[in-house]
Amino acid sequence: MPLFRNAEFFTTVNHLKDLPNTPAEIAFVGRSNAGKSSAINTLTGHTRLAFVSKTPGRTQHINFFRLANGCYMADLPGYGYAQVPEAVRAHWIQLLGGYLQTRPQLIGLVLVMDARHPLKELDKQMLDFFAATGKPVHILLSKADKLSKNEQIKTLAAVRRALQPFAERQAVGVQLFSSLKKQGMEEVDEVVAGWFAQ
Ligand code: GDP
Repeated sequence: MPLFRNAEFFTTVNHLKDLPNTPAEIAFVGRSNAGKSSAINTLTGHTRLAFVSKTPGRTQHINFFRLANGCYMADLPGYGYAQVPEAVRAHWIQLLGGYLQTRPQLIGLVLVMDARHPLKELDKQMLDFFAATGKPVHILLSKADKLSKNEQIKTLAAVRRALQPFAERQAVGVQLFSSLKKQGMEEVDEVVAGWFAQ
């Protein structure tokens, strides 16, 4: 049974002290508009489990979903949206930074990047920041349908090359993904199931 299929919404958290007591979890993160919510919706088979936002950068909480294996998935607030008030940004850094660095149950991070604009500065900062935990990262190059087959192959190879310095410090995988075409679903399922199996 696929891991993400029919995941159920569990809870929303605004403060680190309210994080639920889960056995183990993975988290999804990415620049706002990267396609993270769409990827979660596609993987879970729900049309609106993760809210596809019309005003990017506004979701400042962590949503938890229960997976088929009894473990959990955390949907982290997107980063990189410029028009966010300073107080909101400060809350975001505290919530997200604190979560990523101190959450013992977190076993790996799925980082969503638009395949047309991979490895932006904030994505690299995220990889650097998370490397300190020693936990694995798997990158989804989303909206792959917007690239030709040839561009997809080139982009995947270019991102793999660019990730080599990061891969010396932590396990970093990368794949193509399209919510529109349902491309790459088995691969992400397999990688994440592998994390839980360890
Ligand atoms: P989030 O901010 O990272 O959660 O991004 P969303 O999932 O809300 O997606 C941002 C925009 O990209 C929306 O307009 C989506 O419809 C679009 N989008 C997301 N995934 C795909 C995809 O696989 N293919 C295409 N063509 N568009 C996508």
